[in-house]
Amino acid sequence: MTTIDQQLLTQLRTYYQAHLEDIIAENIAVCEVAAPPFQELERARYVAHRLQEAGAESVSIDETPNVYAQISGQQPGPTLMVTAHLDTVFPAETDVTVKRVGHELHAPGIWDDSAGLAALIQLVKGLRALQTPLRGRLLIVATAGEEGLGDLRGMKQAFKCFGSEIDMVIAIDTHFGMITHTGIASRRLQVGVSAAGGHSWEDFGAASAIHVMGHMISDIARLEVPADPRTSYNVGVISGGTSVNTIASHAEMLIDMRSTDAQCLADLERQVRLILQRHSEQGRSG
Ligand SMILES: [Zn+2]
Repeated sequence: MTTIDQQLLTQLRTYYQAHLEDIIAENIAVCEVAAPPFQELERARYVAHRLQEAGAESVSIDETPNVYAQISGQQPGPTLMVTAHLDTVFPAETDVTVKRVGHELHAPGIWDDSAGLAALIQLVKGLRALQTPLRGRLLIVATAGEEGLGDLRGMKQAFKCFGSEIDMVIAIDTHFGMITHTGIASRRLQVGVSAAGGHSWEDFGAASAIHVMGHMISDIARLEVPADPRTSYNVGVISGGTSVNTIASHAEMLIDMRSTDAQCLADLERQVRLILQRHSEQGRSG
């Protein structure tokens, strides 16, 4: 176990308290370089430039575009990757000018994750200013594609590049003052059921996609999952059918499954798929 060097912590705290205005200015400057989804390059260039100025080594941008930089320690040791994401959820036409209201900064993305990017830059500045002795390597990565349909492509790319070398990761992303130390895996299924269908009177007895799906949901809702490791499921959206007097020939649902444990998630998915399989004999599901 590594103990924290209290003297160093006090030094860093004092440094950052004295440079609070710099940190705020950094946050504003990053935020005002727009980074809509899939258009992160301009911000990537800006962050790379600032990391370089702050004294980081080996600053580069790849085609993702991720920004990479590092600080090499004086002694051998682990590689710690510290990351923040470049992209915001806001479209290109959004006004990203920062307004100061009292002690608050207001702008789209000022917190998520301009503040994280500013923290990366200021981390390098602080460590350089204090000539902090480090063991191992501090790897700094500003990632693209964290939000929405970005599908974490920047983080995936970083692990593709450095995966085997990374010992620890800290991602700085909103919720300051809080540390999240557990990963949650999720699986989502889109289920479609097709059945013969027909007229509710004339064809009574024909297979109904909605009735089949109802049985599926009923069985899924009875599944028991562990509270520890925490595991959950939810049928969140259902749709289908044509009219009140039509036996439905099609129905769809979206299922969300989560767990803090990969094996529990895999077990849950297997059980859900078994239920779908069992009932699909009554209709035709895919
Ligand atoms: Zn974020």
